[in-house]
Amino acid sequence: MADGKTSSAVSSDKSVATKATYLKDYRAPDFLIDSTQLDFDLGRNISRVSSVLSVRKNPVSDSADASLVLNGEDLNLISIDIDGRSLADTDYCLDGSTLQLSNLPDAFELCIVTQIDPAKNLKLEGLYLSDGMYCTQCEAEGFRRITYYLDRPDVMSVFTTKITADASRYPVLLSNGNEVGRGRLTDGRHWVEWHDPFKKPAYLFALVAGDLELVEDSFTTQSGRKVALRIYVEEKDVDKCGHAIQSLQAAMTWDEKVYGREYDLDLYMIVAVDFFNMGAMENKGLNIFNTSCVLAHPSTQSDIAFQRVEGVVAHEYFHNWSGNRVTCRDWFQLSLKEGFTVFRDACFSADMNSATVKRIEDVSLLRSAQFAEDSGPMSHPIRPESYIEISNFYTLTIYEKGAEVIRMMHQLLGAETFRLGSDLYFDRHDGQAVTCEDFVCAMEDASGIDLTQFRLWYAKSGTPNLEVADSWDKSNGIYTLTINQSCRSMPGSGESEPFFIPLRVALLSDQGLEHFSIVGLVGSRDKNKETNKEMSTEAVLELCERNQTWQFSGLKSKPVPSLLRGFSAPVKLNFDYSLTDLLLLLREDTDGFARWDASQRYAMKLIEGHVSGRQLIDSSAGKAAISELGMVLEQLLQSGFDNGVWNHDYDAALIAEILRLPGYSYVIEQFDPVDITALHAAIELLSQAVAKQLKDVLLATYQRLQKQLSALGAYRPQAEDIALRSLKNICLSYLMRVADSQVATLAYQQFTDANNMTDQSAALSALVNCQSSVAELMAMKSLNAFYQQWSHESLVVNQWLTIQACSEKSGALSRVKELMNSEAYDNTNPNKVRALIGGYCARNLSQFHSNDGSGYELLADEVIRLNPLNPQLASRLLAPLTQWRRFVVPQKTLMQNALLKISHSENLSADVYEVVLKSLNT
Ligand SMILES: [Zn+2]
Repeated sequence: MADGKTSSAVSSDKSVATKATYLKDYRAPDFLIDSTQLDFDLGRNISRVSSVLSVRKNPVSDSADASLVLNGEDLNLISIDIDGRSLADTDYCLDGSTLQLSNLPDAFELCIVTQIDPAKNLKLEGLYLSDGMYCTQCEAEGFRRITYYLDRPDVMSVFTTKITADASRYPVLLSNGNEVGRGRLTDGRHWVEWHDPFKKPAYLFALVAGDLELVEDSFTTQSGRKVALRIYVEEKDVDKCGHAIQSLQAAMTWDEKVYGREYDLDLYMIVAVDFFNMGAMENKGLNIFNTSCVLAHPSTQSDIAFQRVEGVVAHEYFHNWSGNRVTCRDWFQLSLKEGFTVFRDACFSADMNSATVKRIEDVSLLRSAQFAEDSGPMSHPIRPESYIEISNFYTLTIYEKGAEVIRMMHQLLGAETFRLGSDLYFDRHDGQAVTCEDFVCAMEDASGIDLTQFRLWYAKSGTPNLEVADSWDKSNGIYTLTINQSCRSMPGSGESEPFFIPLRVALLSDQGLEHFSIVGLVGSRDKNKETNKEMSTEAVLELCERNQTWQFSGLKSKPVPSLLRGFSAPVKLNFDYSLTDLLLLLREDTDGFARWDASQRYAMKLIEGHVSGRQLIDSSAGKAAISELGMVLEQLLQSGFDNGVWNHDYDAALIAEILRLPGYSYVIEQFDPVDITALHAAIELLSQAVAKQLKDVLLATYQRLQKQLSALGAYRPQAEDIALRSLKNICLSYLMRVADSQVATLAYQQFTDANNMTDQSAALSALVNCQSSVAELMAMKSLNAFYQQWSHESLVVNQWLTIQACSEKSGALSRVKELMNSEAYDNTNPNKVRALIGGYCARNLSQFHSNDGSGYELLADEVIRLNPLNPQLASRLLAPLTQWRRFVVPQKTLMQNALLKISHSENLSADVYEVVLKSLNT
């Protein structure tokens, strides 16, 4: 077990493979595999895998007579040969997860033949069938389900792969690298051989065999090499690949421009599969994508899906350097490739769309879900110290917080120096498997900046909390900010040194940004460092001690501070803003993120006031506060238009985000303990009140934008149009809260007239959530019509499932149960499970947490059902229950009971065991 404690709640005899792996135990491999030749014979049921490995002792290994211990799981071993000599059963040692060979020469050729049954592989790790197509997923430890191998990322090998299969059923046979040969056999089968010249770990291996159509384009690199770009999909999806191709070309151009990185093979392939546990996988030269992250067509995918495709295609492409050319030494270093690559794709998406809104989306995810993870039982540093099941560590912490840590380094070094650092990192480590420390060293060496204290971000879990206080000395015109940092100590992490936190700040008055200079720094080791006599409108305060004080001069009156601009560090920040301060920031701040943040804080103050009983939302003071907010929002909406047409100098996407109230998951994260009934009541009252107050301006805005978009004609997935649709549809969703027949008719009209999925699904969602009886009939009609129209499109059916699972109206659970038994659902397809069960349990929080515990029962039963079939999926669905300690009764007890029920079920997988164990015992 992870922390060495024994558990009374979860007994270890119910679980499999529950031993923890520790970073401190890392040892270099005793053997290396220089080349790997694989031969797949894909049969109707059983497939045969022959591997020929050139193995040699690792010169840096300290144990001279070490055994070779290969990983293997669910394999049927047929034969083993060493240098042409067959081994007898007594020459090796085989158990459930390893194959051990002893008394080996310094270098030898090892041939292993195994049989596997991909059709029975519902875990979707290793080689499996997705809708009749063979495909693989090997990260993190799936390759050991294909053949016995040193399945660890620091063993890098050159792969050659031959695939033989029936020619009519599997006309397309793909693997990594370049095609080097093909032929037909007399029995109706054919073969294709692939060679990847770049050394890679087994987790980047991929194979695909199926009946697929090809969409092809090309890209010419900056050095003039032509690369073929190929997307393989089912025939019906050929018209949905244009956006992915364009996104790929844009990403290739961007990586050349921003990081100087060029693509290195002649061929870049993407395959779309419907059964996939992840979003996509960056296998060298052969990315395998969940259909939901590659297919995009205006009539079937919404704007959000278009943007997701753009972001995920870019992310996987960027991995070719940050992940593949330079890879991770071990899985504790996962954030080395993921944090860096998420940072890269976030910058790319910001350049392609509204940069502010991209930042808001990322921060929202971080603040609602990653902060919760970091204060819950699964909390871990971005470089964890131990794990039971590595699949459980593909977390928001590794990805999103990991990206924030890279972003802080980028801020600290500046873009140009950061680029010098990344160049040094790629040059120094090309072809190697390295650590997070190697990355930080490259940044240090390129910049000359000492990152010693900064490294704490890699080692410590938990979200730092900043308490900020200010004072104003009228006689001297000196404004003072005092900042105190703390971080809740997590088990095992101990009391720690303070973090290094870059904090972007500005100061505002009624006239907007003020010029100031920093005149004094109290309590710092280096008192002169930040004394800056030059006047500026923004500064980056470098917080490196528990308590620090800055003094600002050049101000005529007490300013309102704009703190943590651009969300310059992944921290919680408390400052006692008045409602008037927040309205000033919302109106006058020049940092889009800070404006949005002010709107969120304003709403949170109202919700907190209501829940605590200090100031009810429907009291006269509450109404006055909403009225003042309403006036600012109304002004924002009106000032965007010139003669009835939206002026794109105003970021409509930002205003849409400002209008959107804080989501349940964010609100829940702000409370401890969480009384979901009280929160629900406050959120409902607030959204109703805002909708009522703004009804006229929302309606006018909606109608103007609808007219403007209609005049544009055909759908375009461009940032400007996406922004207009986003603003229009948030207006519609507010209007539905007023729930009169005029508004319901508008939504129904939008549903029937829509020429794109964004508008169609937004209207359907508005109708489904509307409380009016007029809308109820329209909602029923629309749901039926929608299904009739799209029942042949799996991804659209998933949206239909999610819209119903997320219905705010009572009765959502019985509808979910009905849908689970319908033809629209398939409980072995992860996308469908996430759409329906995940939609209900993670996104419909007011219903999921209902007082009778029925939501928890549903989730527990689903986790128990999925545990043996797809443990990764089961473990991820569990996340909402891990927060049980923060809730008040009855939720607290009911969630705990659901976890206990899971813990008492038979044969818990390591994935589920680890999450349940930590949740109950931490
Ligand atoms: Zn990734």
